[in-house]
Amino acid sequence: MDNPILIVEDIRKYFPVKGGFLRKPDQLRAVDGVSFKVYRGETFGIVGESGSGKTTLGRIVLKLIEPTSGKIYFDGNEITSMRGAAVNKLRRRMGMVFQDPSASLNPRMTVSGTLRRPLLIHGTKNREEIDERIIKMLDKVGLGREHLDRYPHQLSGGQQQRVAVARAIILNPDLVVLDEPTSSLDVSVQAQILNLLITLQSEFDLTYLFISHDLVTVRHVSDRIAVMYLGKMVEIAETDELFKNTKHPYTVSLLSAAPIPNPEVKSVKRYIVTGEPPSPINPPLGCSFHPRCRYATEECRSREPPLLEVEKNHYVACHRSHELDLSSYTRDLWKIMEGTKAELER
Ligand code: SF4
Repeated sequence: MDNPILIVEDIRKYFPVKGGFLRKPDQLRAVDGVSFKVYRGETFGIVGESGSGKTTLGRIVLKLIEPTSGKIYFDGNEITSMRGAAVNKLRRRMGMVFQDPSASLNPRMTVSGTLRRPLLIHGTKNREEIDERIIKMLDKVGLGREHLDRYPHQLSGGQQQRVAVARAIILNPDLVVLDEPTSSLDVSVQAQILNLLITLQSEFDLTYLFISHDLVTVRHVSDRIAVMYLGKMVEIAETDELFKNTKHPYTVSLLSAAPIPNPEVKSVKRYIVTGEPPSPINPPLGCSFHPRCRYATEECRSREPPLLEVEKNHYVACHRSHELDLSSYTRDLWKIMEGTKAELER
């Protein structure tokens, strides 16, 4: 892990929110001081509930949204201050796949047109070369010539997402941001798309930033996982380490919310948190998880825990990570996850 392609340094994104009568406008802290590195060839998973800031973060990395502060380095170059032609050049090296393929594909464009567009925009002029690359890419994602003239509404959800994946990698990017790429698909199709992404990664030497609310899915594809809560990262670790040696109570609660796919497993000890996450407009003082954490102390209510490396490559933002033993929650869940993994690999 000595060759980061992406370095994110203390990124913040605050959106202005209208105040009331005689009230100052508020700020919604969508991303609030996030730092991490993504290494060449790995899949870095980002997981969190809706509203955790993970999608905003992905869009900042892609330069679709400007951050309020912080810096991002891509392949050694600072990109947060890049503008104009330099951004267009950068886009060639970054692909993206969104959650809903029917919304991300142009309904008036055929598969052929959708895949032709990025090649033309980024300077491939030779018609034969373009056609050849489109056919080759369709084959790689499990589609054929018969799909070339179809419009999105003439394709199934899985086929639409295959086209979106082909569009994301047709320019041979270094980094692909995958934002909930399977969550709008049927369960049977989800595994196919995940396995396709894994195959394409090794074939095209891709690095993935994989964003999802679903820990089980993230676990299936990721080398390392970062857990986000209310705009901050609360735990980052290698995948097996995160599941076997979970250190943050919020991560345990996410694990506990996973469905049990094995009917023979009757019950497991679960860490259930109640209530909604606090508002990102007015986050709590101290640890932002403290109103929902059963281990909260006075210190948690008054002082924000920094994200510290507590074991090799395992980072946690919790004042009590050195003393909490959460293994009674993760022991059974780990076995369940193994069953789910085997199903996805089948
Ligand atoms: Fe819970 Fe305190 Fe740790 Fe926050 S810092 S997760 S409130 S124990």
